[in-house]
Amino acid sequence: MCKYATETRVVEYSNFVIKEAHRATPLELATQICADLQRDGVDSVNEAGVARHIAEHMTHPAVKVATLIRELDSTRRTVHRSILSTDPESGQTGVDVNNVNTYVRIVGAMQQLYKLGDPSKLTFGQCADAETLSTKKPP
Ligand SMILES: [Zn+2]
Repeated sequence: MCKYATETRVVEYSNFVIKEAHRATPLELATQICADLQRDGVDSVNEAGVARHIAEHMTHPAVKVATLIRELDSTRRTVHRSILSTDPESGQTGVDVNNVNTYVRIVGAMQQLYKLGDPSKLTFGQCADAETLSTKKPP
């Protein structure tokens, strides 16, 4: 069982993660959560543990879709770098058809995920500002 399931503030932080997952990585969110807890003298959790909790235990679609898009985009960039290949014998550079096909499949999978998400939330960086990223409650 998730060790954070018994934390009294887990619902508050879970809601924060669900709301902000589209514009911050699990580790970035964990950093903010741990800073908030430390301000209140709670030091029993660490950033890596909270980030792992977000990535492995949170199945809310907003969190999963954002995580999957990030993972696919990382893979897409890696495959994109290997679309051109050089023949070791001739030295000729050409297009690697297998990698192009893989790239196109990844882009297709990303498009399907974007259709699942709330487009306003998935438009990265659209409304990022310090105020809305803060975990602090308004006074
Ligand atoms: Zn957990």
